Amino acid sequence: MKKLTYLLSFLLISVVSVAQEKKEGHYNISKFKQLYEELPTSNSYRTASGAPGHEYYQQKVDYKMDILLDDENQKIYGEEIITYHNNSPDKLAYLWVQLDQNIRASDAVTKDIKASGPSIIYNPKKFTQSFLGKPFDGGFKLDYVKDINDNDLSHTINGTMMRIDLPQILNSGQNISFKIKWWYNIPDHTVNRARSGYEHFKEDGNNSYVIAQFFPRLAVYNDVEGWQNLQFFGKGEFTLEFGDYEVNITTPADHVLEGTGQILNRKEMLTKKQWKRYEEAQTSYDQPVIIVTQEEAEESEKGFSKKTKTWKLKAENVRDFAFASSRKFILDAQAVKIGNETVMAISVYPKEGNPLWEEYSTKAVVNTLESYSEQMFNYPYHKAISVHAKQQGMEYPMICWNHGRPKPDGTYSTRTKNGMISVITHEVGHNWFPMIVNSDERQWGWMDEGLNTFAQLIAEQKLEKGFPSNGYPKGVVNYMSGNQDGISPIMTKHDNVYQSGPNAYSKPAAGLYMLREVIMGHQLFDMAFKTYAERWKFKHPTPADFFRTMEDASGTDLDWFWRGWFYTTEVNDIGIKDVKKYVVTDQPTERAKNMFRRYGANIEDYLPALFLVNTDSEEFTDEMSKIEDPSKDIPFLNEYLADNFSPEERESLKATKYFYEIVFEKPGGLVMPILVDYVYMDGSTESKYYPAEVWRFNDSEVKKILASDKEIKEIIVDPNQLTADVNTENNSWPKKEEDSQFDQFKNDTVKN
Ligand SMILES: [Zn+2]
Repeated sequence: MKKLTYLLSFLLISVVSVAQEKKEGHYNISKFKQLYEELPTSNSYRTASGAPGHEYYQQKVDYKMDILLDDENQKIYGEEIITYHNNSPDKLAYLWVQLDQNIRASDAVTKDIKASGPSIIYNPKKFTQSFLGKPFDGGFKLDYVKDINDNDLSHTINGTMMRIDLPQILNSGQNISFKIKWWYNIPDHTVNRARSGYEHFKEDGNNSYVIAQFFPRLAVYNDVEGWQNLQFFGKGEFTLEFGDYEVNITTPADHVLEGTGQILNRKEMLTKKQWKRYEEAQTSYDQPVIIVTQEEAEESEKGFSKKTKTWKLKAENVRDFAFASSRKFILDAQAVKIGNETVMAISVYPKEGNPLWEEYSTKAVVNTLESYSEQMFNYPYHKAISVHAKQQGMEYPMICWNHGRPKPDGTYSTRTKNGMISVITHEVGHNWFPMIVNSDERQWGWMDEGLNTFAQLIAEQKLEKGFPSNGYPKGVVNYMSGNQDGISPIMTKHDNVYQSGPNAYSKPAAGLYMLREVIMGHQLFDMAFKTYAERWKFKHPTPADFFRTMEDASGTDLDWFWRGWFYTTEVNDIGIKDVKKYVVTDQPTERAKNMFRRYGANIEDYLPALFLVNTDSEEFTDEMSKIEDPSKDIPFLNEYLADNFSPEERESLKATKYFYEIVFEKPGGLVMPILVDYVYMDGSTESKYYPAEVWRFNDSEVKKILASDKEIKEIIVDPNQLTADVNTENNSWPKKEEDSQFDQFKNDTVKN
């Protein structure tokens, strides 16, 4: 059928339709313009192919810390030695250090840059802190900033950033060690939606801690931003260097702790029985082993030990460090084979998480490790931990906090269960983006959230087909077609986006889903996506590196897609404007004659040829309209076939009875491929794909010809809702007659 269509369009239609397009169309230059002006010029640090260049560098920062968790007073104390390696070619006169806790300082600017009216609902503690009495006294209290010889280092604090002036220039290739001592009041993370802090359990008087952003950490210095020292306002997350950590954490003796890195003295920290269970878990590949049981945790809850113990942790090549600690914690673990390595999937939760947590958490961790390793690259760390914390969903290297709590009687809704599996998959998944493929979260929320939401969807569908995942194209239709005043392009600095949910998560994820399912196909997409992850693991990629790699590795020009989906807020709306039916004749039509005349040519010189006549046009004479089957009955056709076609072509041409011209319209601003189902009278369906480039020469409508031996019953655009088409009313032919709301209203009124 393809060859026939080609022959016909070449012989008959090309002259007519090309001339028409030139008359009606306008070249659609801007939507298919290459992204040269938007993307930075490539250089020796980052290549035009999207890979790290031959002079690519990144800084390294190592931390040695002694931490004390004061459970009685909810305070944390720390002393750290930071070693900064200047791998850049530049001389540095100062270093920028992030003091994220200062977002909770009583004089923090965060609340002042917000311009909003009252909320409908307030947590009582939040209400008190916001409007009555004294605000929470959060933020880092710095005891000192000193060089390694105990000389004070001159430093300036600007909100959540601190500039340390170096006594002498730090040259390329040099390193410097310095010390900071600090403490702060730990916030209740259930108030004001803190990303870390404690939750207090009134019933037993205990706290459970999820501790992060808890130490002064170096800002990133690189070839793209210089110092990334944008303030932490709460929404735009973190931008961090890789390095090695040695961390000693002192907690009450009855606490159970998990954190980033190897726990070097785990055996000492567990009872003999628990250690035996831990060893058992390391070869338990089919189900979790409960290492600290609920009974043991409930016993610990009553202890309130005055003694302490010190956990020794060591992590290499991580971009951050976090830990969770409580005497309420139950802990289970299961072994997972990733490549040739065994990784431990671990869950930590208070009894309030059960029975949900012992049933589903570790299973969700295992599935995420397996699916993400397959999609990107093998998980490189030795463990992945899911910690239960109320209302939380937050990620760190090897460890994350997740919500999902049953009611006090232990029952839970499907929504709670699915929400929990979803958040665990998402947060464990963040180990890939941005913990390892280490993008700049402060600037680009979508580079970790969007890519991660996409990979999460694949992982969830692997766990349970039909799982209510985020990131399908039809899921962003409401958002994209909403009030444009509240929508920002994906390529917007994260703190400045109106709706970070759809902006950073579902819209970019839906874009990747479309690339995979519609535009590129699984093979090309998967290979390119993997290439991006491989190229940038343990490095700092930018949006340009992602856009370029996806094109470079797949051989697909996607500039039009990045331009429309990532740089604008335009919507996709493609529909069917008109359908014309034709019959075939070898008699030159008036229209064709006129065309040749206009070009000064003589149509006789081009005969014999076939011509199509629109069944609705004047040229479709009374006599011709009586012919039931034009391919059989029009006498000239057989004659013509004998001379000009091979026997094979003759057969297929004879079989062709129907010719359709379909006019697709595009009221939406985006260019997109046209996905269309042609449904025939015999019930069969032919699915067609016209690439987005079909819109190059005309941004509002395009025509397509279809030759068939069967009559078309119905034409449907984007039948499976894969392109986020915001208006499906124009997606079918014949038009589905539906009363508008106004008509219904009118009818109702008349009836009354
Ligand atoms: Zn996330």
